[in-house]
Amino acid sequence: MKGSPQGELARLRNEIREFVRERNWEQIDSPKNLATALCVEAGELLEPFQWLDRGEVDELGAASLVNVKHEIADVFIYLIALADKLETDLFEAVIEKLTINRSKYPAQ
Ligand SMILES: [Mg+2]
Repeated sequence: MKGSPQGELARLRNEIREFVRERNWEQIDSPKNLATALCVEAGELLEPFQWLDRGEVDELGAASLVNVKHEIADVFIYLIALADKLETDLFEAVIEKLTINRSKYPAQ
């Protein structure tokens, strides 16, 4: 059974913390390094779409779709790790930013 979205996000954060701790990577995981890795992974996410005509999902083959899924996961992992390092509640940050975006870009 699934928990709350915040609970599920905390579970992912804990999994990432454990992965990092098991490898003794805490000392290299500075905010700068995590932000850099996040951008590198975002670039990797873009790669399967490079040279596509329209960039729509039907142009991606099955293997590329799996690749895209894994790169999305890499981006999310580094995003969670960076938010954790900066002691930022990612869930709250997204809700806060959506509120800002709603007033910045009204629907009407
Ligand atoms: Mg990657």
